Amino acid sequence: MLEPILPLVSKPARYIGGEDGAQVPEHGPGRVAWLLAYPDTYEIGLPNQGLQILYEILNERPDAVAERTYAPWTDLEERMRAEGVPLFSVDTHRPAADFDVLAFNLSAELTYTNLVGMIDLAGAPVRAADRAIDDLLVGAGGHCTYNPEPIAAFLDFVVLGDGEEVAGEISAALAGWKAARVAGDPVTRHDALTALAGVTGVYVPALYQPVTDAEGRLVATRPIDPAAPELVEKRTVADLGQWPYPRQQLVPLTEVVHDRLNVEVFRGCTRGCRFCQAGMITRPVRERPAEQVRTMVAEGLRRTGYDEVALTSLSTADFSGVEDVVGAIVRSGERPAPADEGEGQGPGSSLDCGAGLGGPGAGLASDISVSLPSLRVDAFTVGIAAEIQRARRTGLTFAPEGGTWRMRQVINKLISDDDLYGAVESAYSQGWRRMKLYFLVGLPTETDEDTLGIATLARNVVEIGRRHHKNPSVTVSVGGFVPKPFTPFQWFGQNTRQELERKVGLLRDALRRDRGVQLKWHDPRATTVEGIMSRGDRRLAAVIEDVWRHGGTFQEWSEHFDLQLWLDALERQGLTVEELAYRHRTEDEALPWDHLSAGLHKDFLWQDWRDALAEVGLEDCRWTPCYDCGACTGYGIEHVVASAVPPAGGSQGTGPSPAAVPVALGRRPVPAGAG
Ligand code: SF4
Repeated sequence: MLEPILPLVSKPARYIGGEDGAQVPEHGPGRVAWLLAYPDTYEIGLPNQGLQILYEILNERPDAVAERTYAPWTDLEERMRAEGVPLFSVDTHRPAADFDVLAFNLSAELTYTNLVGMIDLAGAPVRAADRAIDDLLVGAGGHCTYNPEPIAAFLDFVVLGDGEEVAGEISAALAGWKAARVAGDPVTRHDALTALAGVTGVYVPALYQPVTDAEGRLVATRPIDPAAPELVEKRTVADLGQWPYPRQQLVPLTEVVHDRLNVEVFRGCTRGCRFCQAGMITRPVRERPAEQVRTMVAEGLRRTGYDEVALTSLSTADFSGVEDVVGAIVRSGERPAPADEGEGQGPGSSLDCGAGLGGPGAGLASDISVSLPSLRVDAFTVGIAAEIQRARRTGLTFAPEGGTWRMRQVINKLISDDDLYGAVESAYSQGWRRMKLYFLVGLPTETDEDTLGIATLARNVVEIGRRHHKNPSVTVSVGGFVPKPFTPFQWFGQNTRQELERKVGLLRDALRRDRGVQLKWHDPRATTVEGIMSRGDRRLAAVIEDVWRHGGTFQEWSEHFDLQLWLDALERQGLTVEELAYRHRTEDEALPWDHLSAGLHKDFLWQDWRDALAEVGLEDCRWTPCYDCGACTGYGIEHVVASAVPPAGGSQGTGPSPAAVPVALGRRPVPAGAG
């Protein structure tokens, strides 16, 4: 049924599977069948590492099988609905109803309507409460699930934290239940839910109830079933070295984002940027052994045929021994350099989100380029720059985030103007012509001076470029700030849409006549909806479902995003943007995610929020006394780093001089066993 319609839609290669690394698992009654889903297109979803890791781990188990699915684009969905074709796996084109579990990776709030649409297309009722014993169990993991309340009504279970171990435990918990069901024993869907609730790191929304006061304000979210724990703790894999996945990274047959070998070098980040949810919720730092990184890179390149590898993490220049690893990779691809190779072409060119590192030897060039997608300005100046001598490259991205030093103290991204200028000077002098700079607007305490500081930085960067090139260019990308759960900014009332638009306008006017500076911005209307979802509660399920029923899918895509659909849906539910996104939260207020734990103490986050307002910075706790945020102590894990010596740069190295930064050190006693 599917094959006849594929030639009629755009990009059918999205749906055919058969990639190098794809699996054709053997299903059976003794195996829990997982359909791993990404609620966006194949191009966005295929490179997702979390999904690929689970795909392999589950297929290695005797009690599980896993296949993949992505959101069908609107043209295919229309035909599927017209022809009665259900959601299917790309691996074997098996219908979703043949699986036991439909598990989503959620990394962006604007995909929530796609999630609902995919559940519906799978043939299951969109609301978990309406599902029967034979319907799919719908689960989700990923960063968005640290506040799953807006989508709780659609999900049977939610996973917090690293998936490697918990996916196996969920399979084990469901295997017995499935066997009993297949055998016709009188098991219920509730039995499956209580079994899932018994797995650490798994939250089963149906077993909890929000409690509100007389005014309708949330007081707490409490378990209503003895099987459900009061507090659901995230999962943390202590030793990444035990999980060298993906071993068989998928090689797509069609164009996708990040089309290169990706090797994760560590998880967690303790730089402490206050806007960054990923940094907070993935603590503590766990590095992969350098030797394992080298092996994964060498074997991955050989198997896939890629000539580019990205070393991924939240801040890859912080990886102990990054220069040794990069040097070894580059040397492994060295060959004599042809005389006519020029800048910006051929092997060694980097993607614009990373740094291409070429061969270090005179007369040699490397066939392999290395991207470091999260490269800090400060670390670039002192560490990596020395490695970069001969690569041809097209673009380089830095993320100062704030336009002034004051702003960067508030957000704890302690990079001075001089750090940035030093980094771009190094880059321009070594052959780069184009820079990208990422900033946020709408940050707490931001003034127009801070916003306009972005224009000043961009202008100065171009000026530095002119010392080295005739036509240097800088692209300034500006995103509106969305406060996220489990960060110190979770209490902050987001800037209104109009205020974000005004700030973008300020920048546009300021840069209107600047040659060489191009301004791009994330749509403040989309930022507003992200803000509503980010800290929303269970009342939002009706809004999400309403938007989906009115055709609002692919809201991540600007050509499909429709603010009015969201505003109408909110109004129909009696909800307002003011209350959900623009309102400051108070210290004693119950938050919709208080029954979940990312390991961080709420009082640490509150103190860090006060420190932000006082413009006080916190140093990286990898190298300083512990602040007792809770991330290590709660799990009995310490940071796993290969070197006891801090990397050069940042708040510990070439960053601002300590005298210039009010830094709080060891404000609280270090508890026994803390990292
Ligand atoms: S518990 Fe201490 S060492 Fe661990 S992440 Fe938190 S502040 Fe850092």
